[in-house]
Amino acid sequence: MELRTHNCGELRKENENNSVRLAGWVEGIRLHGKVAFINLRDRYGITQVVVKEDNLLEEIKAIGNEWVIAVAGKVVLRPAGMENVKINTGAIDVEAERIEILSNSAVPPFVITDEITAKDELRLKYRYLDLRRPSMQKTIMFKSKLMHLISEYLQAQDFVNIETPVLGRSTPEGARDFLVPSRIHKGKFYSLVQSPQIYKQLLMVAGFEKYYQFARCLRDEDQRKDRQPEFTQLDIELSFIDEEKIFVLIEKLMQCVFSKLCNIQLNAPFKRMTYNEALETYGSDKPDLRYELHLKDVTELCHKTDFNIFKSAQAVKCLLFETDVSRKMIAEFENVAKGYGMGLGWLKYADNSFSGSVAKFFNPEILKELENFIEHKPCSILFVAGDRKRANEALGGIRNYIINNYLPPKPGQYEFTWITDFPMFDRDAITKKLVTAHHAFVTPKDQTTMEANPDAAIGILYDLVLNGVELGSGSIRPHTRELQEKILGVVGMDAESREANFGCLLKALEYGAPPHGGIALGVDRFTAMLLGMNAIQDVIAFPKTLSGVGLLEDIPSEATEAQLDELSIKIKKDEQTKNIS
Ligand code: ASP
Repeated sequence: MELRTHNCGELRKENENNSVRLAGWVEGIRLHGKVAFINLRDRYGITQVVVKEDNLLEEIKAIGNEWVIAVAGKVVLRPAGMENVKINTGAIDVEAERIEILSNSAVPPFVITDEITAKDELRLKYRYLDLRRPSMQKTIMFKSKLMHLISEYLQAQDFVNIETPVLGRSTPEGARDFLVPSRIHKGKFYSLVQSPQIYKQLLMVAGFEKYYQFARCLRDEDQRKDRQPEFTQLDIELSFIDEEKIFVLIEKLMQCVFSKLCNIQLNAPFKRMTYNEALETYGSDKPDLRYELHLKDVTELCHKTDFNIFKSAQAVKCLLFETDVSRKMIAEFENVAKGYGMGLGWLKYADNSFSGSVAKFFNPEILKELENFIEHKPCSILFVAGDRKRANEALGGIRNYIINNYLPPKPGQYEFTWITDFPMFDRDAITKKLVTAHHAFVTPKDQTTMEANPDAAIGILYDLVLNGVELGSGSIRPHTRELQEKILGVVGMDAESREANFGCLLKALEYGAPPHGGIALGVDRFTAMLLGMNAIQDVIAFPKTLSGVGLLEDIPSEATEAQLDELSIKIKKDEQTKNIS
């Protein structure tokens, strides 16, 4: 017998009197004496099955929620006024003639419904049941469509989908590697790749010109909000291009995705802003441009006050907030500033006069100047003073806090921007040594500056930011061994360590490497944003918890003695007890 002729979301008025078979999960059974109703659910929807025959009424008494059944019956119209407009099949019922139990179910630990109240831990432990909920099915299928659309778009432009290894050599991308011990080569390790960075560059040397892949990236990161140890990137690399071409490619891709999946027409070209502008104006290299709220430079003005902290500061920046802030809000903002190691000064301007924590340091003349600066508009002024970068970042943190807590959300509005001209290098907070700001595969805008004053070196390095979230980043790569070695040299790698870490790439760059560059975009984050969801965990079928635990599979788990012996690995006793306690 054919298990089903139709799915549970398919039948309409036009199917009246058709003999059909459906199969699916029992979402609920309502018994009303001589008649019973079964809501039968599959991936496509819900159909109401009506049971009237006595022997069937007897049979279904054994059936519970989430049992899998097949129903043979006839499509009947629901009586006028009894249609359910909430479901596609709401105009009809299937009157059961035969019911077959295909699989029974233990009582689920939570009700399979979109109005879920179960805790995250329970949902993750029984993820296959959580995934059965209609909203989760929609999410996962949306992601599948998104990935298909992206593939289609790139394939139409001649891109080649190429898989690269997961077992690789460590490439420093800023996070720790997961190590995999080799059984055959005892004492040696693979590392799970943090991204296919080196491989995609090698593919350019190999002559593929246009590569893409939905790449699994594995990073052993410390617990951070909404991060996953494994996630998916849309990884792209092209030869014979410049950053302009990459911008256009990605903008068109975004237009295509938004138009086809969300029916939203995006304007292009996207805004562009240098890293410096972003930091000075928004206090962040991933500004949320849906909100105005600009940082203002009041260094000159504040140097004239009697406040020593202002007078001696490299920069004094402020935010004008057109709301009368309460003491409670000030305390919250102070707390945010503290998180950046900075203090907060504030003033209120109302009824033509100033009050607030730093008012006493401003003489009438400077207050006049400030009054003009704020164009006589009643507002609250939040000041942060000190090192320019840190002051900007602290005020940027306050800006984000205000957006998240005090300004109306703006769902459905999408503000893209490219951030360009990033510094190539940073200083390690503790050792003060030069480190790469992103990764080492970035061409400097000006090689002479890089060699003479690496702190001032700007890279051809760009981020795509959407609504305050970094969606992806990329760069134009050095394509000569000489330049790549110089960059590695700047961050203190001597010839031996360059060879040990990047030998295969350096060697490849000797064999006719074309100019190339690329980008990688976070697919999970992008999916979540398109769906208006906050957590990437919700768009990954089998995610880990924040601390990297797989509750479903109960991992990480211990290895057996035999497994460890084969690998010649001994677990330090004190480490084991540390884990247990
Ligand atoms: N591999 C880089 C990353 O994962 C992206 C790129 O430069 O293409 O961040």
